[in-house]
Amino acid sequence: MQEWAMEYPLIESMRDLKPVTWINPFAKKEETDRSFPLTKMDIIEAEKLWQRFAPYLAKAFPETKPLNGIIESPLREISHFKEALEKHHHETLPGTFYLKCDHELPISGSVKARGGVFEVLKHAEKLALENGMITKEDNYEKFMEPQFKQFFKQYTIGVGSTGNLALSIGTISAELGFTVDVHMSSDAKQWKKDLLRKKGVRVHEYDGDFSVAITQGREKTEEDPNGYFVDDEDSKALFLGYSVAALRLKAQLDVKQITVDEKHPLVVYLPCGVGGSPGGIAFGLKQVFGDAVHCIFVEPTHSPSVLLGMMTERHEKLCVQDFGIDNKTEADGLAVGRPSRFATEISQKLVGGAYTIEDDELYKLLTMLADREGIYVEPSAAAGLIGPLKLMQSGYVKEYGLESQLINGTHIAWSTGGALVPEEEMKVFYEKGKSLLRR
Ligand SMILES: *Cc1c(COP(=O)(O)O)cnc(C)c1O
Repeated sequence: MQEWAMEYPLIESMRDLKPVTWINPFAKKEETDRSFPLTKMDIIEAEKLWQRFAPYLAKAFPETKPLNGIIESPLREISHFKEALEKHHHETLPGTFYLKCDHELPISGSVKARGGVFEVLKHAEKLALENGMITKEDNYEKFMEPQFKQFFKQYTIGVGSTGNLALSIGTISAELGFTVDVHMSSDAKQWKKDLLRKKGVRVHEYDGDFSVAITQGREKTEEDPNGYFVDDEDSKALFLGYSVAALRLKAQLDVKQITVDEKHPLVVYLPCGVGGSPGGIAFGLKQVFGDAVHCIFVEPTHSPSVLLGMMTERHEKLCVQDFGIDNKTEADGLAVGRPSRFATEISQKLVGGAYTIEDDELYKLLTMLADREGIYVEPSAAAGLIGPLKLMQSGYVKEYGLESQLINGTHIAWSTGGALVPEEEMKVFYEKGKSLLRR
């Protein structure tokens, strides 16, 4: 441990559970390999799959009808929150604040409606194509027909999840007709398990960490010849599903006439669990905006797995417990001790940096957002809201020469979940933040 701490000075503070900010040296190094296992073309292909399924989604999930079956969330300016944050911390923060409201996404009320739904649709399409049930030119409303549900019933989808991925995968899979097994740690939120069981999903619970649930789930699913495991620790399809967000965000920024270029930087703050959703979104944003976009990851002080993986270049080979960090946080969407192999390798080459945040801070931000903007999110989703402050307090601005540009810049905190949280639970979150703010 001493050697680790010598080589990576941040590790000591991380082991003490203190909030840290890391500027990614690999993103700037000349010798960093800039090749990726995916291209912009893959993102465009992924968007086409979403388009093919849009008629189906509009029918199967009426809440997607206003956007014609496209699963997308609004981008909202949060100037009142910005004022509150500045006042609370006695700082002036250059640039405009926006919230990317993935907590409002249909189907799962979280960012997982991007990756999770995409991977299941992709699998369903593959099976239907292989069995001659559709062609890519057909109207995919066909997936509503009883013979499709009958057909998918013989196939099993398995997933390991701390909660939100299960909600997303479980909901879309059950709707298509698949048999679904969800593997969760026993301390996962009860309301999430109840909701899944109500949809006919088989929920399996495991004592211990999420990593136990995912390992067991993977083994059990792979024993079944008709089984397919959505592997949060190593999934290219999840990653691609998330990446499409970048194309959609570009269109939303265009509509709002928000310029993104060298003189108008865009900084995006992404809450990070296993690293798939922030990695996929960051990869997409880099393809669309290049050097004009800066992607910053955020993790709880108790679960800084992706930060450790990137900083040490050891990726999924290390987990936070190896460093005596317990992976216990109220931010259940981010409570992951070991990062994704696929995503972390890519993220290391392109994210600007990462910071960690304490649970108490999440509650305060959640309550400030509710008070000032009337927007309610879950604790995980509040993590990016303090990003602009962390950015200004770090050496990042200077290192990237953004001192004069940020005044024309845009900050986007990615709000990753919340719409399905029962009102009673949300009230508890809010009150907790309220009392912390009063102190
Ligand atoms: C899953 C999740 C994240 C992070 O996504 P990963 O792919 O695990 O990194 C962030 N916020 C919420 C609410 C989530 O459910």
